[in-house]
Amino acid sequence: MLRSLDNAGNLAGKRVILRCDLNVPLKDGIITDDGRIRASVPTIKRLIAAGARIAICSHLGRPEGAPDAKYSLAPVATRLEELLGQPVVFAQDTVGAQAVAAMKILKDGGVCLLENLRFNPGEASKDEAERNSFAKELAELGDILVSDGFGVVHRKQASVYELAELLPSYAGDLIATELEVLKQLTESPKRPYTVVLGGSKVSDKLGVLGHLLPKVDRLVIGGGMVFTVLAALGHKVGKSLLEADQIETVKTFLSQAKELGVEVVLPTDIVVAASFSPDAQFETVSADAIEGSSFGANGLGLDIGPESAKAFAQAVSSSATVFWNGPMGVFEFANFAHGTKAVAQALTEVQGLAVVGGGDSAAAVRALGFDESAFGHISTGGGASLEYLEGKVLPGLEVLND
Ligand code: ADP
Ligand code: MG
Repeated sequence: MLRSLDNAGNLAGKRVILRCDLNVPLKDGIITDDGRIRASVPTIKRLIAAGARIAICSHLGRPEGAPDAKYSLAPVATRLEELLGQPVVFAQDTVGAQAVAAMKILKDGGVCLLENLRFNPGEASKDEAERNSFAKELAELGDILVSDGFGVVHRKQASVYELAELLPSYAGDLIATELEVLKQLTESPKRPYTVVLGGSKVSDKLGVLGHLLPKVDRLVIGGGMVFTVLAALGHKVGKSLLEADQIETVKTFLSQAKELGVEVVLPTDIVVAASFSPDAQFETVSADAIEGSSFGANGLGLDIGPESAKAFAQAVSSSATVFWNGPMGVFEFANFAHGTKAVAQALTEVQGLAVVGGGDSAAAVRALGFDESAFGHISTGGGASLEYLEGKVLPGLEVLND
């Protein structure tokens, strides 16, 4: 059983470290989608109402274990202030004197946000001792930990795992809500059950394919990860995203799918661009002839083509349960957003449970103008949801179990 906030007792005057996932997309220092901040607000408000003194911590992006201004959480503090309607003290360091000082000035119900956890090498270190020593520094700041960063519970990182062992720790309300939906997907999902995968974290996602096979009826694959699959089928993919060292894994996965009778839906046409830019020239070509476009071996696939979009939409809307993680193309550029839009539209037409997961996928449906309420659930976690669906033990949840 997960220890929930209901088990945390009286929080008045207590110092609470709240681990959130505030990893929002930024462009030139401006937040382009605040979904993850909004999703974190209910737990924060609950702690405020309980009179806790709250130190919120989060990662943002993938800085290399050192301060890097472009990954500062400062813009998030400002947005959080607006959403909470009360001041948020921003500490320019995650631990140490600055963080302690920020915490000290808080009154009951007060909130501070600590700078990006990943500015510290201990947070995501592969070395357990390093993670432990960073977790100890973090633990100085609080009496208890409330873990609510659903998007990172699949990572064994200091603030997610080691810190939860050092302090009395509880799952926040966002984690509880996310798990309720994921349970519906794992415990006898209505069939046909389809998982749609795309996006750019190619090696992470290719890794989950094999484990998902026994669970699903259909796997639909697009986005940046599809080019490794096309390469495994012997096609040339020009300058498209490719993980050459994963080709063999993908071949195994394709033959397993055949054995298990899982339908793998792949694009038949691809939108190939001359360069990675919003106004790049582009052409639609057959998926087995990417280098046949007029850009030759320099072309790069930035979206699935219209024929594929139609087939993908059909595979989705005819399913009873759908989980989708990863945009079908570079949706941030209007010319390459059509595949993602078609899949998102099809999810809204599912008679059953349709779940969108992943930071960028959730941002995409909002950026493309869809109403959040048109989906069964928009999850803040992509990788975390996928690993949960695979049946893996997630360290950040395991550690909150009694
Ligand atoms: P999520 O955050 O939903 O888990 P990812 O982080 O894996 O998704 O991937 C999101 C990114 O994938 C988007 O920024 C999108 O531009 C990019 N992407 C999708 N298709 C392609 C492609 N064909 N080539 C390069 N990038 C792509
Ligand atoms: Mg992402």
